[in-house]
Amino acid sequence: MAGGGFEDFVVVVTGASTGLGRAIAVETARQGAEAVVVNYARSAAEAEETARLVEAEGAKAVLVQGDVASDVDCKKIAAAAQTFGRIDALFNNAGITRFANHADMDAVSAQDFLDLYAVNVVGAFQMVRACRALLEAAPQPGAVVNTASIAGVTGIGSSVPYAASKGALTTMTLSLARALAPRIRVNAVCPGFIDTPWFGKGLPEAAVDRIRANAAAGTPLKVASTPEDIAAATVFLASRASRHVTGETLLVDAGSHLGYAALVAR
Ligand code: NAP
Repeated sequence: MAGGGFEDFVVVVTGASTGLGRAIAVETARQGAEAVVVNYARSAAEAEETARLVEAEGAKAVLVQGDVASDVDCKKIAAAAQTFGRIDALFNNAGITRFANHADMDAVSAQDFLDLYAVNVVGAFQMVRACRALLEAAPQPGAVVNTASIAGVTGIGSSVPYAASKGALTTMTLSLARALAPRIRVNAVCPGFIDTPWFGKGLPEAAVDRIRANAAAGTPLKVASTPEDIAAATVFLASRASRHVTGETLLVDAGSHLGYAALVAR
């Protein structure tokens, strides 16, 4: 065990089959977690690969299929940790989007809003509710980390409903941090671009290449973030190192929120 902020922790990660969720699951295992509940909705083979990677780091992996938009499924995901008697860290990472030009108001429907909210906002709420008793059973305050987005801070991203859903998730982070203290900490991470299967699902490869290149060129740090880059900051918010942090929103976007103005004055 490499050591770190997760020794003996029981961790739950929603949407852990690919991308950022997989990187979070593996990083918590690398930092000493005892067990990681690996949730997925549809990608069983990819989730099994996440479980293999978690176990290669020395943690027990518990695979659970479940749609976080379903309250029954959220209870099933939480129940997978019951055998350990506690949850030290819950990562609400599952998310979906719809790609649509923000200026084309006819490109999205009321149903698109409801579908995205069902997973990105209601799903996270239902997961916290389902895990509450087990989070409160942790010896230190149980930690929840919501994967929001820079889209929800600046109103950019794949579509208006997506940006709105992530803004709502960030606000919900504040409500729950206040309401569930002192037994549970609740924080949010707002990634910028992450190089995951996310874009491949909705866009042609050439468009993904352009987005990756634009991300690297357009951020002050001149990088396109990998899932591991974002996971490193995300897990901090659930680790013992952040034990006095709650209600915080951490932007992990290589500085993209700073804008693209040329630094002519210095
Ligand atoms: P990804 O590789 O597509 O991962 C999305 C994950 O969410 C998958 O594991 C997927 O599982 C799961 N998921 C989707 N709907 C679900 C549901 N109803 N119930 C349970 N799991 C569900 O994309 P990613 O980039 O890693 O996205 C992870 C999070 O980061 C999302 O919340 C996303 O909004 C956020 N984010 C991404 C970026 C980016 O640039 N990629 C930027 C900012 C924030 P299945 O495959 O099994 O369906």
